[in-house]
Amino acid sequence: MNTRTEPGQLTKGAEGDAQGMEPRIRPPRMQYCTRCVYPAAAATPLTFDENGVCSGCRTHEEQKEVDWARREKMFRELLDEHRSPDGKRYDCVIPVSGGKDSFYQIHLLKVVYGMNPLLVTYNENNETEVGKRNIQRMKEVFGCDYINFTPSIEVLKKMNRIGLRKMGDPDMHAHLGINSVPIQMAVLYQVPLIIWGEHGFMNLGGMHSYKDMVEYTARYRKEHNLRGYDWYDFVEEEGITEQEMLWGKYPDDEDIERVDVRGIFISNYFGWNQNEHAELMVETYGFEINPGQFDRTYKRDSNLNNIHDNGVHDYMKWVKFGYGRVVDHVCRDIRSGTMSRDEGIDMVRRFDHVVPGDITRWLDYVEMARTEFEETADGWRDPRVWVRNEYGQWVKDNIWDHN
Ligand SMILES: [Zn+2]
Repeated sequence: MNTRTEPGQLTKGAEGDAQGMEPRIRPPRMQYCTRCVYPAAAATPLTFDENGVCSGCRTHEEQKEVDWARREKMFRELLDEHRSPDGKRYDCVIPVSGGKDSFYQIHLLKVVYGMNPLLVTYNENNETEVGKRNIQRMKEVFGCDYINFTPSIEVLKKMNRIGLRKMGDPDMHAHLGINSVPIQMAVLYQVPLIIWGEHGFMNLGGMHSYKDMVEYTARYRKEHNLRGYDWYDFVEEEGITEQEMLWGKYPDDEDIERVDVRGIFISNYFGWNQNEHAELMVETYGFEINPGQFDRTYKRDSNLNNIHDNGVHDYMKWVKFGYGRVVDHVCRDIRSGTMSRDEGIDMVRRFDHVVPGDITRWLDYVEMARTEFEETADGWRDPRVWVRNEYGQWVKDNIWDHN
């Protein structure tokens, strides 16, 4: 165990044994869902039933039983309750990234239900060209007022570094921004309804049932979306001041109560099928998928707004949890019936370990040495997943070795 390898080797994990020698130190055995491919150590917590099927798959299955016509009626009534009676304020706020799900939300609210929403983006910086074109198209085709908020780039660079070191997530600033700025805008413009897309912990991991009609709360924001952190965890790190973090604050209770802000998840009213959203938005509004293949997933229609989203950000997820976004994509496709589990496992095997090509650019952006990045990343590896064997390699259990 005292063997030290060069940092470059540390990230190659999961490649198996050295020169055909069977290592004595084996990784912990992982349980995987027997229907999709989620591991027990998933980022969105899940449980398994007696058949080894995960709670995410079971919750997905509930969609067949939901009375969607009734939900749609509930949704219409909810909109009528919150619509501005005299046109003196916006009807609702929609937090948008400019992705396919944003397009779908605006399509429903503005086009289908005739609401006048205020669109709010937390801009992470490092926009992609396709992401910029989609934002422009969103502004042109929907005719909505739009706020695109970007914090100081200098602060963002610091927050990337702090996020990696302190929280194991260079993009913690983005979670903070998405979960603060739209709510601040709702308070500022006195709009009582915020329409979110899907509930990640419910739609991926099955933390809640469709029967629960879960809504957005300050607690959900902090404990789930921000993993227990908040704006003040960045203050005094690298000299960041409270004043530089104003955009990351959740409004006071008095403000939330005065405006009576309520946040709902649209997935509770219409189900959630990202593949269908993407197709419909491409056909109807000319939404653009990524022109090229990403390093770490086969999907070209997700997370298109930030250069590093499908790169270093997703790579850190793999380092921490032992799986990346390709697993999320495969699970969605298996659940929606467009991919078999065996095909999904092949995709995971092909993409999940890939070290993305954007790391060098990201290191230049945040001014960090590669050795520091790799050593810090290794410090975040989940011991339920990873072990370093006697050859100094990080290894994990792999789903294709089961069955
Ligand atoms: Zn599952």
